[in-house]
Amino acid sequence: MNLTVSPCTIAIIGGGLSGSLVAANLLQNATTPMSIKLVERHSEVGRGVAYSTQVKEHLLNVPADKMSAFPDEPDHFLNWLHENGHAGVKASSFVPRQVYGDYVQATLSEAEANAPADVRLERIVDEAIAIETKSQRVMVSLKAQCLNVQKVVLALGNFPASLPEPLASVENDNRSIRDAWADDAIADLNPEHTILLIGTGLTMVDTVVALLAKEFRGKIHTVSRHGFMPFSHKPATPIPTFIHPETAPKTARELLHLVRHEVRLAGDGEQDWRAVIDALRPVTQELWQTLPLNEQKRFLRHVKAYWELHRHRIAPEIAEMLDAAIQSSQLVYYAGRIQTCEEEENKVAVTIRERKTQANIVLQVNRIVNCTGSNCNYRKLQHPLISSLQEQRLIRPHASSVGIDTASNGALIDAEGNSSELLYTIGTPRKGNLWETTAVPEISLQAANLAQELLKSLHPKPNIVSDWFAPNQSSLLPKPVMLFRQLFDQESSTYTYLIADLKTKVAILVDPVLEQVERDLQVIQELELTLHSCLETHIHADHITGAGKLKELTNCLSIVPRYAETTCADRLIADGNTLQLGNIQIRAIATPGHTNSHMAYLVNGTHLLTGDALFIRGCGRTDFQDGDAGLLYDAVTQKLFTLPNDTLVYPAHDYQGRTVSTIGEEKRWNPRFVERSRSQFITLMNNLNLPYPKKMLSAVPANQHGGILVN
Ligand SMILES: Cc1cc2nc3c(=O)[nH]c(=O)nc-3n(C[C@H](O)[C@H](O)[C@H](O)COP(=O)(O)OP(=O)(O)OC[C@H]3O[C@@H](n4cnc5c(N)ncnc54)[C@H](O)[C@@H]3O)c2cc1C
Repeated sequence: MNLTVSPCTIAIIGGGLSGSLVAANLLQNATTPMSIKLVERHSEVGRGVAYSTQVKEHLLNVPADKMSAFPDEPDHFLNWLHENGHAGVKASSFVPRQVYGDYVQATLSEAEANAPADVRLERIVDEAIAIETKSQRVMVSLKAQCLNVQKVVLALGNFPASLPEPLASVENDNRSIRDAWADDAIADLNPEHTILLIGTGLTMVDTVVALLAKEFRGKIHTVSRHGFMPFSHKPATPIPTFIHPETAPKTARELLHLVRHEVRLAGDGEQDWRAVIDALRPVTQELWQTLPLNEQKRFLRHVKAYWELHRHRIAPEIAEMLDAAIQSSQLVYYAGRIQTCEEEENKVAVTIRERKTQANIVLQVNRIVNCTGSNCNYRKLQHPLISSLQEQRLIRPHASSVGIDTASNGALIDAEGNSSELLYTIGTPRKGNLWETTAVPEISLQAANLAQELLKSLHPKPNIVSDWFAPNQSSLLPKPVMLFRQLFDQESSTYTYLIADLKTKVAILVDPVLEQVERDLQVIQELELTLHSCLETHIHADHITGAGKLKELTNCLSIVPRYAETTCADRLIADGNTLQLGNIQIRAIATPGHTNSHMAYLVNGTHLLTGDALFIRGCGRTDFQDGDAGLLYDAVTQKLFTLPNDTLVYPAHDYQGRTVSTIGEEKRWNPRFVERSRSQFITLMNNLNLPYPKKMLSAVPANQHGGILVN
């Protein structure tokens, strides 16, 4: 039998952060031939609107430790900074956005360099203008060529805002009115001129910073309906999430009351309101989804401006720059509406009706810059690609008027309400469904999940070539290659797994126990195996690893998950890394939650060693060693439960004599996860009140030293 597999082809339209991260995740995780076509209209990928700025004073508005490209490697960005000439950056630092663009580019290049030879990335500098679906294929028309692919990801990001009235009525070619995101927004401006910025949010802040960096000395007027000034970030002691989506109020007004009440309580306890807003972040998407549509619309009309003001804060350094400009009267804020806009010689006269006094203020300005942020009303967007999708009824604008309708896996929902199997999206277009979907923490998680979703849906069907010519098929069937033994330690109820390639006789031990080293060595000797390495799922708290002793006795390697606090590992294994043991492949799957560096291992695609992340009808605890119930829930439901149902589940422990289960069984019967939402799971795990493991005080430090007891 001759099997040939043709590569799957995925087109990603948009090479900003979202598109680049989907590509990086695909490159890291694809195990079958694949061609990824990343289409970006600008020459550089990885930057998009946010990270292509040339102004070094433009800082991220999120601290460095929250900007990792990979949700299961929270320190990825910080480590990259430290290894790439930014040693002084702290977790709480606000880094230049330009540098973040360098990071995204480097991350994509690294994924490309480490991908298997038959998983390829092609960067195409072009603009997509139309999409058509035809019998399980998608034709993507670019300006210069046409792509015929199996799947498409729309990573289109942010569209520039439309001009508010009455500016929109002023002639189109008026060179005094420009868009803040255009390259020429503040170009060829006399440094003494007067400028008016429409909008007082983060785009306005960016424009002011760029003006000051250019040594602009003229007056800067800014106007918005409320005239709110962005708040600065400030260190705030985190508080637990005080609101649960199931029991939360279902109206925008009541939600607002509840948050205000919490802010008052926080104030009484000398806490900062920022901690209250931050505590909402993990549940914001769920809260949004539990609001009925009319309440979502009410939120957009009445609460959005307040929410964005408090949620999107600026780096303290930037706040200081703005304060100084206000103090010197260079920067002036107005709360009001623009009434008229009239062109005069070399100037535009703009009349603003002040919100409070209803008085008219007339400003004579040389330049007006539209800083109203992004436009995500797909009914109003004017781009040929969006028109093409709309004409073919392949997209449906979200009923709230923000974004388009998507399924929970990111698939587009068409005008008839059907979820696509060919077209997906990520980031801003999902705003109507998720609300919180535009910042790096949300985008990085969506990118990882979407890549898994695409890979799952793309199992290539081998073309069977001339199979009936094979003389004796049974003689051609591959012989079993793997030895898989489950060994047990009664005292700690721990399973150790011995896995070996039967041809090369090379073996690996997963989670060996110190007290069982002699037993394990005896099996290895009797089966004439060579112990290559000991592999840990995590730093254990209930037993001491046998790795140190086995290393001493056999010279094997000790392999430990990346980010585990350990002093003597020979190798670290990261999410997506594959260990090749003869013909056996062991793929690491980061499953943080029981401990922060926990890994599960998928052996040859069939046997899943779940460590303490998933037990048979249970899961590991999350109340020590930086455990996090929310992360565990995400890892199990979004990673392990997305493996095929017949994947065998081999846990690190069982206390009732069970040895093996399957993913399908656990999805159906595991009482910790079945019909339990994330927040219900967190509540359950936070209230288990289990006693600490007896050996914890000696086991954890010993395991951090590879199993050597520490005095
Ligand atoms: C000024 C600014 C600052 C920000 N700062 C932060 C921050 O500090 N921290 C944070 O977490 N988030 C920040 N954000 C949020 C930001 O939305 C995300 O971090 C992220 O950049 C979004 O990436 P994206 O790829 O989805 O969108 P975009 O960055 O908008 O990228 C989309 C890309 O798609 C391309 N494209 C679109 N249509 C087509 C087409 N038809 N054909 C070809 N190419 C196409 C565009 O050229 C663009 O490069 C900021 C956003 C902005 C606008």
